[in-house]
Amino acid sequence: MKLAVLTSGGDSAGMNAVVRAVVRAGILKGCETWIVREGYEGLVRGNVDADAPSAHNLATTLDVKVRDPSFINNLRFGDGSLLRDGTGDHPAGRTLKGRYIVRVGWDDVRGWFAEGGTLIGTARSQTFRTPEGRLTAAYNLIKEGIDALVVCGGDGSLTGADIFRAEWPTLVETLRSQDRITDEQVARHGHLKIVGLVGSIDNDMSLTDLTIGAPTALHRICEAIDNIHSTAISHSRAFVLEVMGRHCGWLSLMGGVSAGADFIFIPERPPKANPWEDEMCETIHRHRENGKRKTIVIVAEGAHDANLKPIRADYVKDVLTERLGLDTRVTTLGHIQRGGRPCAWDRIWPTLQGLDAVDALLEATPDTPSYMIGMRENRVYRVPLVEAVKMTKAVAEAIENQDFDKAMSLRDPEFRE
Ligand code: ADP
Repeated sequence: MKLAVLTSGGDSAGMNAVVRAVVRAGILKGCETWIVREGYEGLVRGNVDADAPSAHNLATTLDVKVRDPSFINNLRFGDGSLLRDGTGDHPAGRTLKGRYIVRVGWDDVRGWFAEGGTLIGTARSQTFRTPEGRLTAAYNLIKEGIDALVVCGGDGSLTGADIFRAEWPTLVETLRSQDRITDEQVARHGHLKIVGLVGSIDNDMSLTDLTIGAPTALHRICEAIDNIHSTAISHSRAFVLEVMGRHCGWLSLMGGVSAGADFIFIPERPPKANPWEDEMCETIHRHRENGKRKTIVIVAEGAHDANLKPIRADYVKDVLTERLGLDTRVTTLGHIQRGGRPCAWDRIWPTLQGLDAVDALLEATPDTPSYMIGMRENRVYRVPLVEAVKMTKAVAEAIENQDFDKAMSLRDPEFRE
């Protein structure tokens, strides 16, 4: 099996551990292993013949620096020959211009456990959203002889993976009718083996308990609130923190609980009281009466009131200042939440899931569904990709329709109030 792995959508800690696990498990199980740089965008751009740079090559390739010199030690062209020039000189900063689908060896992923983000790059690809883009992506995979793909990304990326999988037979047929691939290639690539792993800091995917990167992001939030705690206590201040998570309140809720927040706004549970300002002020006033010297309010980026009107951190600050007379500051945690060294769980779960992804691909037949690999009650767990994507969309729809209980029970079928 020729196996490729890509990371797509928003970066998250643990993506490198996925790539490492897939590459090493693939090699141990007899596969040829490849990485696709820059997510689906790399799949669409493919490999431009290095000996024949064209206008297309010059105009469209990203000039991405290789961050780690050891990364290019074993990179190979599709025919197996080494990418390096034979001089042994391959300093950091050498570019992989024009090559997005690259063969990798055991050493290329050494030490990747401890690196944040994704070393093979990620991107948001508009082209892959189009049928033409996906046709080119299919062609580029078939050209390199790759017949199995691991996609690590968020719900958007896994939706893309699901569409690609469903369309695959049509794409192959179109390429054949355009004489771009041979009958032999059609026979070999009639079925795309594809597996999705959920890389997302938001923990917003249905049918998995934990997404890759969410534990590290939670650690970052917890550390940030700890840091704010000292100044808040010293000055007896209030802090309103805006936390990431898109439509999902998991990071806000868990971050708030781990740091003793006074009030937390999340999309799935808008404040019951209308107006909510009274409820928030009463709660915080009570806490202060009981002796609290600091106030922490967390506002998830997707938070809204019961009428779906967004709740903004600046407005919460004004309410606390004007109604309770608190010296209040807003802190937007922003991208520090995404980054940094993966915590232990973002090394362990991605590794186990990466191993299972390779097994799932080796076991795949045209009759088995494509799987999303997730977690269920502390175990690695497979669920058909199509179901997970459908369920995640249904959650978003339920939130839009203000049916918050339904949203919670769809995200977690065992959810109880
Ligand atoms: P995330 O995976 O973090 O949710 P996005 O929603 O931006 O991030 O999705 C990442 C990429 O996945 C997009 O840039 C696009 O290339 C691909 N993608 C997302 N949705 C679709 C779709 N409906 N059809 C095809 N590709 C998609």
